Amino acid sequence: MSADRDPWLLTPGPLTTSGTVKAAMLHDWGSRDRRFIEMNSAIRRQLVELAGAAQTHVAVPVQGSGTFAVEAMIGTLVPAGGKLLILVNGAYGKRMARICHYYRRAYEACETAEDVPPDPAELKRRLGADPAITHVAAVHCETTSGILNPIREIAAVVAAAGRSLLIDAMSAFGALPIDAASVPFDALAASSNKCLEGVPGMGFVLIRRSLLEKAAGNAPSLSLDLHDQWKGFEANAQWRFTPPTHVVAAFHQALNEHAAEGGVEGRGRRYRENCRILVEGMRALGFETLLPDALQAPIIVTFRMPADPRFKFQDFYDRLSAAGYIIYPGKLTVADSFRIGCIGRLGPAEMRGAMDAIRASLREMGVESGAPARAAAE
Ligand SMILES: *Cc1c(COP(=O)(O)O)cnc(C)c1O
Repeated sequence: MSADRDPWLLTPGPLTTSGTVKAAMLHDWGSRDRRFIEMNSAIRRQLVELAGAAQTHVAVPVQGSGTFAVEAMIGTLVPAGGKLLILVNGAYGKRMARICHYYRRAYEACETAEDVPPDPAELKRRLGADPAITHVAAVHCETTSGILNPIREIAAVVAAAGRSLLIDAMSAFGALPIDAASVPFDALAASSNKCLEGVPGMGFVLIRRSLLEKAAGNAPSLSLDLHDQWKGFEANAQWRFTPPTHVVAAFHQALNEHAAEGGVEGRGRRYRENCRILVEGMRALGFETLLPDALQAPIIVTFRMPADPRFKFQDFYDRLSAAGYIIYPGKLTVADSFRIGCIGRLGPAEMRGAMDAIRASLREMGVESGAPARAAAE
């Protein structure tokens, strides 16, 4: 990495942002500043529109990382007497179970392996068998592996069973389409710094208005009470507590750039192309993806660890980092692996640059093939 250039972040986040998004932060705003208030209103409007939910849902921003938004969603919407069924196939599903544990909310996990999507038929069976379940939580793209979960089928089952669906769409929203009319959900949580390409510091939850109106008093946490937060925005278009002003300004710019790129459609197209360049390039070197193409979201790709003993992940990571590309270790239990992301302000040139750096690193390490051990690939 040259001293004056930031590295390209091929990670699950925080991610590479555009120069114009960074530049949008070079001002100070008072929280009651007219321009700042207008930015907030514009952001809230744009977010519900991205999900085709302007008539039915409201966007409630919240300070913090994405997990704060997920925690606020569960705390605000699952009441003390409710029970949450969580579809788990990775770390983020497990994190929702931990949130329920902290909040002393009844929950149950419906778990599959990290490379196996949740089964809508099993979900249907569980909902039929347990009338105590009031809510279902699902992860759209489980970033642990990069797997695309069948959110449309899940939503159909939950709606047919008359339960409430909460979605963690953190690493999908803005790049993978989700339309409230065809994927009925009561709440969806995401953040500023993933596919929407803002800087980290705030999350948001899209919530069905009719449900939020009835959610007063549910939340066990004041700062993460989205009903109270929403009331604040409705009253005077302001945040209840110190707003992340610079993050908001950057997010406002990022959403305008998202629209200019062609919205969800345009952003998704660029990420799919990034993913294609990466996967084809890596396969040509012998690497294997954890997931078959049909289950792979164009967000982050998990590769199995090569069998060649000359391949040392830390050495590989350090060489790529020196060349200006940051990748990510795996955190799977099913296989030894590492991950390379396709999201953030990256295009074909950066993905090809990363492939050049990967080829050079393997050459320097004396690694002839990225093929994993046979047994691990079974
Ligand atoms: C990134 C991410 C989160 C939130 O993580 P934070 O580190 O709190 O921002 C939650 N769910 C998924 C699926 C994610 O990819």
